[in-house]
Amino acid sequence: TDLAGLLSSRIRDVPDYPKPGVLFKDIAPLLADAEAFAALTLALAERATELGATKVVGLEARGFVLAAPAAFAAGLGFVPIRKKGKLPGEVHAQSYDLEYGSATLEVQCDAFTPGERVLVVDDVLATGGTIGASLDLVRRAGAELAGVVVLMELGFLDGRERLAAHLDGAPLETL
Ligand code: IMP
Repeated sequence: TDLAGLLSSRIRDVPDYPKPGVLFKDIAPLLADAEAFAALTLALAERATELGATKVVGLEARGFVLAAPAAFAAGLGFVPIRKKGKLPGEVHAQSYDLEYGSATLEVQCDAFTPGERVLVVDDVLATGGTIGASLDLVRRAGAELAGVVVLMELGFLDGRERLAAHLDGAPLETL
C-alpha cells in the first residue's frame, strides 16, 4: 500500500549495529518526517478504534514514541510496559530469554480496569520475546488483548510463529 511504501522509505538500514552481523532498522528518519510520522500515528489510532481498544500499550522505549500519540489521536489512554525497576508501586514482572541471558519487563498492577481491551504497539517484531512477555503482562494485569500492531516485522526470525501461543486469536498486524 501507499502507507507501507511511505513508511519503508523512511526506515534506514544500519549495518553492524549494535554489533557485527546485525542489520539494524533505524526509525529516526521516520519520526523526524512530519508526513510519515503523522501517517503512522493515524494508522495506529485507526486500528485501535477498529479493534475496540480502550487503552494503547507501548513497549519501552521506541514503542512509547509510537503508542502515545496514537492513543491521543484515538481518544484513548496510554499505558507503558517498562524494563525492570522503572515503575513505582506494585508491578507484575515477566522475564523472557534473550540470545545471551534474559530480560524482565513490568507493568503496574493497577494499569487496567477489569474488562479493558488493549492494543499493544512496538516498532519491531524480531524474535517475539519482547511482545510475548508483554502479552502475558497485559493478561496478568486483568486486561483483554484487542490486538498487536508493529511498524515492521523481521520475518526471518519467526517471531510471528513464536507469538501464536500468546495471541489467543487476537490479530498481529504489521504496517
Ligand atoms: P524481540 O524481542 O527479539 O522481538 O526484539 C524486539 C525488540 O528489540 C523491540 O522492542 C525492538 O525495539 C528491538 N529491536 C530488535 N531489532 C531491532 C531493529 O532492527 N531496530 C530497532 N529495534 C529493534
